[in-house]
Amino acid sequence: MQYIRTLAIILLLTSGLARAADPVQVFACEPEWAALAQEIGGDAVAVFSATHARQDPHYIRARPSLIAAMRRADLLVCSGGGLEVGWLPVLLQKAGNPSVAVGAPGHLLAASVVELRDVPEHVDRSQGDVHPEGNPHLHLNPHNIDRVAGVLTERLQGIDPDRAQHYQARLEDFRQRWGVAIGDWERRGIRLQGLPVIVHHQAWVYLIDWLGLREVAALEPRPGIPPTASHLERLLQQVRGQGAAAILRTPYAAPEAADWLSARTGLPVLVLPYTVGGADGVNDLFALFERTLVQLESVHVQP
Ligand SMILES: [Zn+2]
Repeated sequence: MQYIRTLAIILLLTSGLARAADPVQVFACEPEWAALAQEIGGDAVAVFSATHARQDPHYIRARPSLIAAMRRADLLVCSGGGLEVGWLPVLLQKAGNPSVAVGAPGHLLAASVVELRDVPEHVDRSQGDVHPEGNPHLHLNPHNIDRVAGVLTERLQGIDPDRAQHYQARLEDFRQRWGVAIGDWERRGIRLQGLPVIVHHQAWVYLIDWLGLREVAALEPRPGIPPTASHLERLLQQVRGQGAAAILRTPYAAPEAADWLSARTGLPVLVLPYTVGGADGVNDLFALFERTLVQLESVHVQP
C-alpha cells in the first residue's frame, strides 16, 4: 500500500513536471516568423511553419495537416495585412482553437505592430489587387522584425509566465545581435542607395524603402496580376529608355517574365531569398538579410 502510494505520488509529480516543461506550440504562417519565434523561444517553444520559402504565402491550401497544427497551437504568428486572407480564416474556423482565435492573446499579426506601406485610399478588389489593405510583405525591413520581436516576447510571457525571464533574456540577446547586424547592413547599404531595380511582385517594398533603392517598374501590372505580353512590351521600351540594374524576384515567383525581360535587356535576374530557407544556407533571419545584401552588392559594382 505504502509502495503504491509512493508510486502514485511520483507519477503525479513527474507528470506535473512534464507539463510545466511542455514547449509552447507556435503556429507561424511564414518561415520568417517561425525563425523569429525560435530566436525568442529557444527550447521553450515548438515551432511549426505553415509555409516554406518556395510557396507563395498569398495562395496556400488549407490542408488537414495545417488544421491539425492550428488545433494544438498556443500562439499564432502571421504577417497579417491580408497576406493570408485566402487561407488563414479557413484554418482558424476549421481548427476552432480559442487560444489562437482573432482577438485572443495567442493571435499575433505582425501587421498590427508595424505601419503598413501602400495602404490604398480606395479599396477596389474588382481589379484583383492582392494588397487591398496595404503591402503585407513587411518583414524585409529588419526594424520591423525588431518591433515584432518585442510583442512576440510579451505574448510568450503571457502564455507561459513561468518562463518569462527566459524569453526576456533571449529577446535582449537577440536585440543586441540584431542591432549590430543592422548597423553593418546599413553601412553597406549606403553604397546601394538609388540602385534602380525592377520587381516582379511588390514583395520588396520594405526592403527598397529601408535601403533607399529605387523601384523603376513592376512586372505585375497590379499586385497579384500576372504579367501580360503588352505590359512587358511597354516595360521593355521603358527600361531601354531609363535603365535599371537588376530584376528582383522571389524564389516562388514564376521565372518566365523576369527571364523574358532579362534576355532582351541583359539585366541580371536576382532571385533573392525573400525569407528563411529561400536559398541554400539561409537558415535564420541573419543569413536572410546578409545574403540579400551580398546579392544586391553583386550588381551594384558599376563604373
Ligand atoms: Zn504580395
